[in-house]
Amino acid sequence: METVAPFKEVIDEIKESGGDAFRYCFQCGLCDTVCPWNKVRQFSIRKIIREATFGLTEIEGENIWRCTTCGRCPERCPRGVKQIEVGVSLRRVASAYEVFPASVRSARTARASLISEGNPLQVERSKRADWAKGLAVKTFSEEMEILYFAGCYLSFDPRMKKVAVATADILNKAGVDFGILGNKENCCGESIRKIGSENVFKDLAKQNIKTFIDAGVKKIVVSSPHCYHTFKNEYPEFMVNFEVIHIAQYISELINEGRLQISNAYDKKVTYHDPCYLGRHNDIYDAPRDILQKIPGLELVEMVDSRSNSLCCGGGGGRIWMDTPKEERFSDIRLQQSKASGAQVLVTACPYCITNFEESRLNLEYDDVIEIKDITEIIQEII
Ligand code: SF4
Repeated sequence: METVAPFKEVIDEIKESGGDAFRYCFQCGLCDTVCPWNKVRQFSIRKIIREATFGLTEIEGENIWRCTTCGRCPERCPRGVKQIEVGVSLRRVASAYEVFPASVRSARTARASLISEGNPLQVERSKRADWAKGLAVKTFSEEMEILYFAGCYLSFDPRMKKVAVATADILNKAGVDFGILGNKENCCGESIRKIGSENVFKDLAKQNIKTFIDAGVKKIVVSSPHCYHTFKNEYPEFMVNFEVIHIAQYISELINEGRLQISNAYDKKVTYHDPCYLGRHNDIYDAPRDILQKIPGLELVEMVDSRSNSLCCGGGGGRIWMDTPKEERFSDIRLQQSKASGAQVLVTACPYCITNFEESRLNLEYDDVIEIKDITEIIQEII
């Protein structure tokens, strides 16, 4: 039997998240025309909004878990409906009833790991700074210029650790006085919040905020657009305001101030993928392109669906932890778009995008077709 959440409960949750503009939806369907799901299967965010208006949302199936929070539909909506907030509210209701489809079970494992180890990857907290072993990376202290917050994927995932190392190399080359907080750090909590575990998010956020304040942190450089978004736009809910800079912005600053010198050419055709949480959610489109355009030999080409129309990799909204059938992966389409652009390298600036693109590269047997790089990995090669 289908589980339908009680009307009042759904409405209260949506109001709580500030998403009650859903009442103004007039069912034009423009949201569905830009939703990336409609490139791979039938799915209607309009229908979910409609059902929520009447408190009739069926919370048992897959549909309320599909949204990747890519941010395309709120930009298109003529009535100011906050589709992401409505979707997250419904997930909070489903979580309260403990109603989860099979595809979401791995996200429950990530949640358990966040509670016990402060990361979603089921690795002991004590290993959080292992990526920095043998490198010139110090523990953060108050007099330092910046805290470098690598985030969970760069701290623990074997592919993404290379990006953390590249970042440390760049900061050291530029003479930046930086440190890390290692196992005192927790996941920023962005993705767990989006799958409806509000209390886990709040616990992670409060612990991080206490750690930052105790350590005297003022300025934080992050590698993940998800950490960027949360520290900058969501932690202020706890009455704190840290200066937050994404590594692409910071490298652009370092180059412009003459602190970081580009010494070599990079003779390849490159295309840049805008991560949803850097581009659409935070309007950072130019900094990565400015860096790439300064590299001698590098030819920058744009894919279809670039900048504010960027195609989501499929990893936001906690989907990075959920199971997506092979034929429904947006990242496969993105790789096909990058191939069509004629690029030899697909560069981006987000650990979720890289994780999904690397998997698609494998599935599509694109080993000889395209390389996947974080922007820091290119910079590391040419400085
Ligand atoms: Fe409703 Fe906005 Fe979607 Fe139109 S675009 S159907 S008004 S949510």
